[in-house]
Amino acid sequence: MSDVIHLLPDSVANQIAAGEVVQRPASAVKELLENAVDADSTEIQLIVKDAGKTLIQVIDNGKGMSETDARLCFERHATSKIRDTQDLFSVRTMGFRGEALASIASIAQVDLKSRQADDELGTEIRIEGSEIKSQTPCQCAKGTSIAVKNLFFNVPARRQFLKSDHVELKHISEEFYRVALIHPQLKFSFYHNEKCLYNLEPAPLKQRIIALFGDVYKNRLVPIEQSVNYVKISGFIGKPEFAMKTKGEQYFFVNNRFIRHPYLNHAILQAFEELIAEKSYPSYFIHFENS
Ligand code: ADP
Ligand code: MG
Repeated sequence: MSDVIHLLPDSVANQIAAGEVVQRPASAVKELLENAVDADSTEIQLIVKDAGKTLIQVIDNGKGMSETDARLCFERHATSKIRDTQDLFSVRTMGFRGEALASIASIAQVDLKSRQADDELGTEIRIEGSEIKSQTPCQCAKGTSIAVKNLFFNVPARRQFLKSDHVELKHISEEFYRVALIHPQLKFSFYHNEKCLYNLEPAPLKQRIIALFGDVYKNRLVPIEQSVNYVKISGFIGKPEFAMKTKGEQYFFVNNRFIRHPYLNHAILQAFEELIAEKSYPSYFIHFENS
């Protein structure tokens, strides 16, 4: 019998990984926003066309990448955030697996421009389905711009599977809220089809909530602040009289990262039990941090 096992080319391995990392445009938005935050940016722009099907672009003013790093960042398991398994116990960044950009670049046409503060020129890289099309020096602002075009252009089955623009944009907005809420000290803007949906100035969390979800929140929020053994709990809960018939704004964060947590959610609903009508839902924005 002849041998039958062979190693998959990187481009195929990346596409398979992309199946897990990038389910829809919103997943790419999440990864790019998180990278921008990890790069110590103070200002982050999200520009989207056709609910992310045509363009997802994130522009930041963070630390940027060297020429070599700009190329390396698209390799699988390429990360600047951990070096060994020990580092896993002290990760403070949003990402660390080094898979996001490799995955995204395997299923889209990506245009990256990046410049570090001390460099005169930046680097521009165009990559398409994992294949580097060009790499040239370029003039650009300090920081990084990554434009992801025609997501799933080479995986037609996945492209067909995408929902209407309305639904995909809702998913994108949700990812934007999650990052913008827990980083109120950063400036964010969000454009869809050339229209500015949000322009958020650095502000305390309460102002950030109001800027995202409307003036109605001005009188709805009760601050919470509690430190126990290992954890500091802070944020806001909505007053019971403003509980909504639909699941509204319910956000848990742990160490600056959004989490979903049915058990904690249940605990909150129980605390509200006598206070709100059945089948209505309180809002909450609660941050747990190691103290
Ligand atoms: P991870 O975030 O898990 O490290 P990614 O694939 O998302 O993996 O990114 C790979 C690497 O590329 C990051 O570790 C970082 O060094 C670099 N990088 C990505 N996005 C940016 C950015 N916006 N600014 C600076 N560096 C970036
Ligand atoms: Mg990342």
